[in-house]
Amino acid sequence: MDKREVQLILKQLKINPNKKLGQNFLIDKNIVNKIISFSEISKNDVILEIGPGLGALTEELVKYVKKIYAIEIDYRLFSYLDEKFRNFDNIEIIYGNVLELELPFHTKVVSNIPYSITGPILEKIFFKNKPPIGVLMIEKNIADRIFFSENSKNYSRISVNTNAFVNPVSRSTISRMSFYPIPKISLSLIKLVPKTEINSFLMEKDSIAYFLRFIAGIMPYKNKNISNALDIYFKALTKRKYTKEEILMILQKNNYENKKLLNFTPNELIEISKVFYS
Ligand code: SAM
Repeated sequence: MDKREVQLILKQLKINPNKKLGQNFLIDKNIVNKIISFSEISKNDVILEIGPGLGALTEELVKYVKKIYAIEIDYRLFSYLDEKFRNFDNIEIIYGNVLELELPFHTKVVSNIPYSITGPILEKIFFKNKPPIGVLMIEKNIADRIFFSENSKNYSRISVNTNAFVNPVSRSTISRMSFYPIPKISLSLIKLVPKTEINSFLMEKDSIAYFLRFIAGIMPYKNKNISNALDIYFKALTKRKYTKEEILMILQKNNYENKKLLNFTPNELIEISKVFYS
């Protein structure tokens, strides 16, 4: 699909791209091919596509895979796609909000996702035991945080959470000119693969939920010493669980130096959340 084709279909469907829904459609065939090659797809793959839009990526994926589930929130695009892929039996177009639906079984997520809900999408799909492989077009700023380098300003909540469940293996910066309309933000194509072994603390829903709350509560204070960050976090809870003295004692007992939070690796932070959970 090139720019003219996308513009023409949008005109026929009387659709003005909706900024809130992140409607920036792919118009560069080379990028579609790049996504396909990043995805290393095979005839055994069951793909989840979030936000298929006009189907620029979908129409290529459908040629190579066992099944695609494509979830689209915009009813006009959903109807267009439902008609477009009427004669294919390996695709199901689903109308709805990816964040609200129960997701069908899938082995890979391949998507140019709605950029404004990247965090919630990552949380729903990847922050769990045995996540799928992901090939995602996301905001470059978020990719920088996922592919953080040690002690950098990019180290943040999303760095810790993502790296707890998956290994970010490759990334590529993508020109904004590859989309219509041209997005305001820069974009990156990233590939995430499940960790061969995730920390045993992150096997259960309850402990995962605790870990995610814990990291969300402390990472805004990443430039503080860990005891201060933890103290702020526990103070803010309705029922305070640990005093500052207890925090210091627990850290010492478990041989954690009271250094800046950003100097702890994701795995150390998982272990620390486990200590405070129990
Ligand atoms: N995949 C298409 C492409 O590459 O040309 C469109 C990508 S566009 C960046 C994001 C798409 O996600 C839009 O079609 C938009 O309507 C859809 N979308 C936005 N929010 C959604 C949600 N919560 N659930 C499902 N689809 C959503």
